[in-house]
Amino acid sequence: MTRRRHASGATPFVAKFGSCDAHRREARAVHEALEALAKQPLPAVDPGAVLGDVLPAEWVSQLQRPRSPTAPDATLAQMLGTQAVVRDALYTYLTQRLRSTLLGPAAEASTWDTDTLPIRSVRGLVDERVRHSGGCACK
Ligand SMILES: [Zn+2]
Repeated sequence: MTRRRHASGATPFVAKFGSCDAHRREARAVHEALEALAKQPLPAVDPGAVLGDVLPAEWVSQLQRPRSPTAPDATLAQMLGTQAVVRDALYTYLTQRLRSTLLGPAAEASTWDTDTLPIRSVRGLVDERVRHSGGCACK
């Protein structure tokens, strides 16, 4: 990846959301959230891209629901069961944290499930935030 001199690519990204104040506000917030998760400037985020392609790989892999391992004996099964509880708790914590980072104030009212986040588009995320924050002048 080439390094850019400007600190953030929010301005060209926000410009793709027209003149609606609500859409521009939420687009800026989504861009900030994506940059915070990526821990680097994202100068060329495509609103049509799906979140699974935009989010850092380590976050996308966290969104895959953990599978339960099978164990050959009872002691090992108990040990794996304890690990599964910890793993599931970590999964829930991380995915909820990601969901609330992306959806912001809309996270509480939104019906979006964490499992579906990787297939949602960046524009869809902005629209979802606008739907719950109001003030849209697009239509
Ligand atoms: Zn709008």
